[in-house]
Amino acid sequence: MPRIDDYIPVAGEGVIEELRLLAERLRGVVIQNVNSTAVGGGVAEILHRLLPLLRELGVDAHWDLIKGGEKFFAVTKKFHNCLHGASTEVTKEEFDHFLEVSEGNIREMSLYGDVLFIHDPQPIVLINKKKELGKKWVWRCHIDFSCPNPQIWEFLKTYVEQYDRVVFSAPAFSRELHTRQVLISPSIDPLSDKNKELPQEQIAKILDGFGIDRTRPIITQISRFDYLKDPAGVVKVYKLVKQRIDCQLVLAGSPATDDPEGEKVFSEIKQMAEGDKDIFLLLLPAGSDIEINALQRGSDVILQKSLREGFGLTVSEGLWKAKPVIASAVGGIPLQITHKYSGILTRTIEGTAYYVRQLLNNPEYGQKLGANGREHVRNNFLITRHLRDYMLLFLSLFNEGDMIYL
Ligand code: UDP
Repeated sequence: MPRIDDYIPVAGEGVIEELRLLAERLRGVVIQNVNSTAVGGGVAEILHRLLPLLRELGVDAHWDLIKGGEKFFAVTKKFHNCLHGASTEVTKEEFDHFLEVSEGNIREMSLYGDVLFIHDPQPIVLINKKKELGKKWVWRCHIDFSCPNPQIWEFLKTYVEQYDRVVFSAPAFSRELHTRQVLISPSIDPLSDKNKELPQEQIAKILDGFGIDRTRPIITQISRFDYLKDPAGVVKVYKLVKQRIDCQLVLAGSPATDDPEGEKVFSEIKQMAEGDKDIFLLLLPAGSDIEINALQRGSDVILQKSLREGFGLTVSEGLWKAKPVIASAVGGIPLQITHKYSGILTRTIEGTAYYVRQLLNNPEYGQKLGANGREHVRNNFLITRHLRDYMLLFLSLFNEGDMIYL
């Protein structure tokens, strides 16, 4: 596991020194993160990396999970889709079940933090304990909030407004709220297995292991099998490109314990891909970080064709590897890509296919985009910047009235 000093060559000595000073001021403050899954998806990905570094810096940081059964996560996935704009109705029975399980978590969980750092809607009702416990409460929203379904938003808002701070990933997500809102982008860890440099032989071995032909172009999207990641759209893009260029498509994703839709989406995509040996649908076990790293590094073009996206860590992951990334102009993605400078932003299947062809035909252009993208990630989306923002946020909770610039 990388140590904080290992980040000096990437982030600079001054940045690490500042992290130590901030951590010093947080001595004795217990930070308790709570979310709903330890594996799968961006939230778990980030917490796995942030926690050890915060602790090494001397911050007493912890991470706990709420409990919930299949039905609970089916309801919260519905919330998730609605917050991303889906128009489905949530029934009274579903709301009741959500509240019942939440109350069970309130009774059973030990809420010992001085700062309760609650991630996403699944554990949001824990705030009901604030009256009794006091403490500082932060709601960290990782979702694309640009046009939430009003029914769910009105329901959640009553909880959101009881928090001391609300953190969003992109300016477009801020809402009219009584609570103070903070903008903090997520980040990637450049030294993790997911993002560290890999020897060419290792990349080759992993691709060969999956049966991928390294002599022909490879287009890749790494994502949970989720409608909002539009894997069906990705297959359509590939089919359009394939009419002119003999390429391969890799769609890789592992299950997340709080995402019950994965299996259904996977089997639909499997049907679409049937009979095409150049489509690789990979269901990777949790923790396949080196494999994902190798797939990203071994690809010619990386796609993130999401219909909605809180941030889209996979975009920064691809850019950090200096790859040309083509991604939808939704949610937090435009923060990461400036069109035709550090990647390509698209809106349609045809447009995406057009740019894939362009990049496959002109690899020098792709290299230029990738190099610019990597610098943009270095300056904005590395874990060191994230650590700094979170520590400033925690400090701001104890210094009401101070102006804090993140
Ligand atoms: N990821 C993974 N295995 C997979 C699919 C995704 O480890 O099979 C990782 C991916 O590399 C990224 C994170 O999960 O670090 C996904 O974060 P993102 O913000 O892109 O999307 P989310 O799943 O949170 O909506």
